[in-house]
Amino acid sequence: MPELPEVETIRRELEALVCGKTFTEPVLHMPSTIKRPAAEEFSTRLTGQRIERFDRRGKYLVINLDRGILVVHLRMTGNLSYSANGLPYEERFLRVSLPFSDGSALHYSDMRRFGRLWLVEDEEELETEVLKRIGPDILNEVDLEKFLELLGRRERSRLKALLLDQGFAAGMGNIYTDECLYRCSIHPRRQAGTLSRSEAEDLYAAIQEVLADGIEYGGTTFRDYRNASGAIGSFQSKLAVYGRKGEKCRCGTPIEKTKEAGRGTYYCPNCQK
Ligand SMILES: [Zn+2]
Repeated sequence: MPELPEVETIRRELEALVCGKTFTEPVLHMPSTIKRPAAEEFSTRLTGQRIERFDRRGKYLVINLDRGILVVHLRMTGNLSYSANGLPYEERFLRVSLPFSDGSALHYSDMRRFGRLWLVEDEEELETEVLKRIGPDILNEVDLEKFLELLGRRERSRLKALLLDQGFAAGMGNIYTDECLYRCSIHPRRQAGTLSRSEAEDLYAAIQEVLADGIEYGGTTFRDYRNASGAIGSFQSKLAVYGRKGEKCRCGTPIEKTKEAGRGTYYCPNCQK
């Protein structure tokens, strides 16, 4: 499932490729992919709009147009790719094609079909209808002070569940949460309120570092994730605990896998306190 680094990788690629382009009429291969407005109205309203800016909030791509905002959430297996000649590089799971007036196109494909697209009129509709339960972006909108304040409001929450909670802060998923808790040697079941000031600072630093590293390596590809040009990420080779059950930690203890917040969770029982 794409997390912040994967979505940011796609955003950076597409920002350079599609800003200034104008949409022609979309092709909805699977109309139920469009969450808002109704599919027909989505097509009518998107046609003729120009892309001005390519943003992101957590795992949502937020594409600012001249008369609205197009939002894409990839969920489990969604992929938004760019094609210079307009042809999709794979047609099997193609759900929505978004051609531009110059013959190029964006294609949304999704094997599991959980991803969604929205077209809203303005920031207010974006906040109330699409991002209403989504917290600030953990990379761009949460500094250390804000992070400590957010932690203070959720003292009883266990850290694994808290970091996965997109309402707390947006962007972290299962892989990067396990990696950052390992980096700062904090146990995934710890409650936020039990962290000392220096542990909370270490956790904040670990989150920022692991996300920056993930972006630097173009994201993590286990199975499905592809960037906007169809290439895989390479951060999977840098993972210290995720997917490494039974392998030895740097301390010599085998990495364990347990279940936290309903998700497979990897950690070192010796290093993480
Ligand atoms: Zn260890």
